[in-house]
Amino acid sequence: MDDLIYELNVLKKIVAVNTDSLTKIGYSECAEIIAEEADKIGLEVEIYDSKTKSSDNLPRPNVVATLNVGAPKTILAAVHYDIVPPGNGWSHDPFTLTVVGEKAYGRGAADDKGAIAALFGAAKKVGKEAKTNFKILITPDEEVGGELGLGYLINDIGIKGDEALIVDAGNEFLSIGASGIVTGTIVVKGVQGHAGYPHKALNALQGIGHLIVELDKFKEFREKKLSKLDAPPESIKDKIWGRFSVTMLKSGIKSNIIPGVAELTFDMRLIPEEDVTVAENELREFLSKVDLIGKGYKIDLKVAQRGGNYYTDPRLPFVHNFKECVEKVVGRSMPLAAELGGNDGRYTSSKGIPTISYGPIAEDTNFHGVNEFIWLKDIRVVRDAIVEYLKVG
Ligand SMILES: [Zn+2]
Repeated sequence: MDDLIYELNVLKKIVAVNTDSLTKIGYSECAEIIAEEADKIGLEVEIYDSKTKSSDNLPRPNVVATLNVGAPKTILAAVHYDIVPPGNGWSHDPFTLTVVGEKAYGRGAADDKGAIAALFGAAKKVGKEAKTNFKILITPDEEVGGELGLGYLINDIGIKGDEALIVDAGNEFLSIGASGIVTGTIVVKGVQGHAGYPHKALNALQGIGHLIVELDKFKEFREKKLSKLDAPPESIKDKIWGRFSVTMLKSGIKSNIIPGVAELTFDMRLIPEEDVTVAENELREFLSKVDLIGKGYKIDLKVAQRGGNYYTDPRLPFVHNFKECVEKVVGRSMPLAAELGGNDGRYTSSKGIPTISYGPIAEDTNFHGVNEFIWLKDIRVVRDAIVEYLKVG
């Protein structure tokens, strides 16, 4: 643990500040501590507050801490300081970092404050030996979408880099892509009526029931779409695959009224290389052929959220070299795969910056749950892998 004194000290200070992403409490205080720590180890510090773009006008300071060695190349590393509320039932105070054996407990210790500590540790350790500039982007609001965090720095401030590392990530594999998403609602319209006179109505709830059964075929069609990129270890398929789920259902007013409208919510996951418009049109096409329409029903599709998928070419030297550095530090081979979920890499990747995700959030760390902790070894591994990479350039 001796070699983690600096990192645990930084982590302790930032875990102590409640940075709940819902209330935005503590954002300014935490960003100030981070800026101060960055300054102490010789990093250049800039702060960009995205509050003017928000609807609540609450401060959202984004801290950019740069180890500038005057190199032609700059690597970006993205982390976030906001957290989800701790909830009840903790064995230790969630805002007091508590080290027990090989674990350090605290809300955000794993997701994602431990990564901030690891990155600062890396910058401090490598110092002027770095062959590449190292820009650490420490943002709020990741837990609520990242638009005013990493999205703001990349899209509005125009922060640039040649390569990007998303350190808000796990360490079971090196992630070189993420799944995208299309969510929305499908509205089935029939004719509302009195349950005593069903022949005068067209039951939207029964219509949508039929549609849900039909959508199984669309789900099967989606599942045939396979990515070139591997799925995470222990997935049910070798490659990332297309998915479609019905997630919510809404209809009905009263037991004696036949509902005229029914609505289902869906969540469709795209493979990393899929075109979102094509995927959306395939769903529209499918819906236009469902045999409800001939029976007098109307079907409407409303898309709420779309996009976010990306992938990085595994043949790039960045991928190859970073993989080697990680493998050297962990002492075993690291699989390359893409995520079944999405991540903030969509912001850097959308600017053409090759993006890899790798971080200290092990699967068993209860992140977002009660008694969240980080494995001390994972802070060390992430720090040292990044040090190795910065030395190679
Ligand atoms: Zn996170």
